[in-house]
Amino acid sequence: MSEPLDRSSLWPYDERGEPGEFYYQRYGHPTGVAAEAALGELDGGTALLFPSGAGATAALVLSLLEPGDTIALAEGGYYGTGVTFAALTSWGLRVVEFDQTGPPPHGVQLVWLEAPSNPFLTMPDLEAAVAHPAPVVVDATVATPVHLRPLEHGADFALHSASKCLAGHDDVVLGAVVCRDSAVAEKLRTFRGRTGIVAAPDPAWLLLRGLKTLDLRVRRQTDTAALLAERLRAHPAVETVRYPGLGGLLSFDVSDRETARKVETSTSVIVNATSLGGVTSLIESRARWEGDRVPPGLLRLSAGLEDPEALWSDLEQALG
Ligand code: PLP
Repeated sequence: MSEPLDRSSLWPYDERGEPGEFYYQRYGHPTGVAAEAALGELDGGTALLFPSGAGATAALVLSLLEPGDTIALAEGGYYGTGVTFAALTSWGLRVVEFDQTGPPPHGVQLVWLEAPSNPFLTMPDLEAAVAHPAPVVVDATVATPVHLRPLEHGADFALHSASKCLAGHDDVVLGAVVCRDSAVAEKLRTFRGRTGIVAAPDPAWLLLRGLKTLDLRVRRQTDTAALLAERLRAHPAVETVRYPGLGGLLSFDVSDRETARKVETSTSVIVNATSLGGVTSLIESRARWEGDRVPPGLLRLSAGLEDPEALWSDLEQALG
């Protein structure tokens, strides 16, 4: 029923004195392999786990690129991805931002998309991106394989912060890269073992458990987010609503930063906290983290699994 959780850090050599499939946890462990198989099947590729979404991002970039290479990064995507790349500029990484609803710029060695972007909720033009000669990464943390399987659209990598919808219960930090090409996956696997950017068995087990209910959770969150987006659009205190029609994440603007602060601290069902994709609905004003990059009154809302009417009542009273 439930996969075994093997926390061993090592396994004995076989009777001939040779290492078997598992011998030292940094190079692989049974729980991780089981979770990678489950995620690989969902996304249609070879999945590799990392200790966080940011860890997956750093490992992928470091294993693929050379000093002096440039990433075309979707503007308006997860703020922390730009922060991770900025931390690598002293190693020769360059970044240019572009509007992912159109084609990526020429002269870049990697294209980095987000489907949909967090918190601006734009969807990438995948057709234009895969026509570019550089490999294409799609951070599909928010879409999940329930709504989008990027490899089927010609992308080379799907990346997930599995801390969000995939594990789904706000009790684990984990990342994943799913590779279209198995030879490229082997290169990344080797890099992972050598650098030690690896995920432990416990988070892998929590991912396995979360994946069992992924489809149900994400569809319910999508229905709830669609309902809330529709009602927010009609609310007089709301200026803009961003929702791409899939996934449990949306963002909306109230008049200014102070009003956003009031709204996020006035909810009682919806928790005022960062992150997204879990069973509990979360709201936060993003200017706190992103400064001028976002409108001052932007609130990001992640729909959980609560009664949608209870969520709407909560939002309505907070907006009032
Ligand atoms: N990608 C997206 C779209 C995210 O929202 C996040 C975190 O919020 C990450 C990547 C980074 O994931 P983690 O927090 O697991 O490192």
